[in-house]
Amino acid sequence: TFQALVLDKENEQTNLEVKNLTLDDLPEGDVTIQVAYSSINYKDGMVGIKNQMVGSYPHVPGIDLAGTVIDSADGSFKKGDEVIVTSYTLGTGHFGGFSQVARVPKDWVVSLPKGLSLKEAMILGTAGLTAGLSIQRLEDNGLNSSKGSVLVAGATGGVGSLSVDMLAKKGYNVAASTGKASEAEYLKKLGAKEIIDREEITDTDGTPTRKKKWAAAVDPVGGQTLQYILSTLKYDGSVATSGLAGGVAVSTTVLPFISRGINWLGIDSVQCSMEIRKKIWNRLADDLKPTFLNEDIVSEVPLEEVPGVLEEILEGKVRGRTLVKL
Ligand code: NAP
Repeated sequence: TFQALVLDKENEQTNLEVKNLTLDDLPEGDVTIQVAYSSINYKDGMVGIKNQMVGSYPHVPGIDLAGTVIDSADGSFKKGDEVIVTSYTLGTGHFGGFSQVARVPKDWVVSLPKGLSLKEAMILGTAGLTAGLSIQRLEDNGLNSSKGSVLVAGATGGVGSLSVDMLAKKGYNVAASTGKASEAEYLKKLGAKEIIDREEITDTDGTPTRKKKWAAAVDPVGGQTLQYILSTLKYDGSVATSGLAGGVAVSTTVLPFISRGINWLGIDSVQCSMEIRKKIWNRLADDLKPTFLNEDIVSEVPLEEVPGVLEEILEGKVRGRTLVKL
């Protein structure tokens, strides 16, 4: 037997606790993995606490995992290979990474790139993949360090912290916005040059265009924060929109688009092609590898403590990344 965090439902009441499972409890799949680490993302809170996106019960959440192949029915992977699995329906419609053993379809599996350990891969996790995808899209749309400052919203979160670090490492002038005034030193350490109060980049009056400020922005927050960003991008600037921590609805006008030529870029880590996925993981192990892939950015918890962190992440209280050791 092995341990997993199981979400079950009985008489309309859900229950999330560590249980013993056997290999027979796992879903079908080509590749069976001894999980070394998982990590906690905002989406895990939506699944584990709000019970959104859950395919069926019982369910094992965890949208990220990294570990070693123990059995493979497919020639592309063999016993002993170190691998990463994220995205698709891992941890939503399919048993996920909060488990000492996982079984997944071969098409979801990425070989651990040279330059990353399993632990580092999970400090990055879906948050790192999303930060990397965001930076790639911004660069594909013309961003370089001579264009001006890059704003990161929700900067103390997972996507935010890793974006600040990666952008600073690449030589960008990073402005970090946060609701946590007490974390200014943390953000400066990661490389932010300017710290901005979350309230200052929240649109409350629908002004369509404001003073031009940012060459680009990484935005995992959405809502009125995104409204503000759209109104303050420089000519030809871009925002990479990945999240909804601050709200789903966005009200804007065509004005910044047709008078400043700005780009609103959508980022999706779940379904992006394997070609792009591998390219980004390789960059995460190389030129985008964060400087602070360590205790500065990550805290580690055992499986038993995951439910508490899931509550906290939905409340916006988590700083950086949380690693789960299996
Ligand atoms: P996280 O660690 O909780 O980070 C979110 C951050 O947003 C918080 O730390 C907080 O930062 C800020 N925030 C929270 N509540 C807010 C509010 N009400 N108003 C404004 N800001 C708020 O979560 P994460 O795992 O990095 O994910 C961030 C978002 O990206 C989530 O919505 C997630 O679903 C999404 N996401 C999307 C993809 C994709 O493929 N599109 C992939 C990964 C994540 P401060 O306190 O510093 O302001």
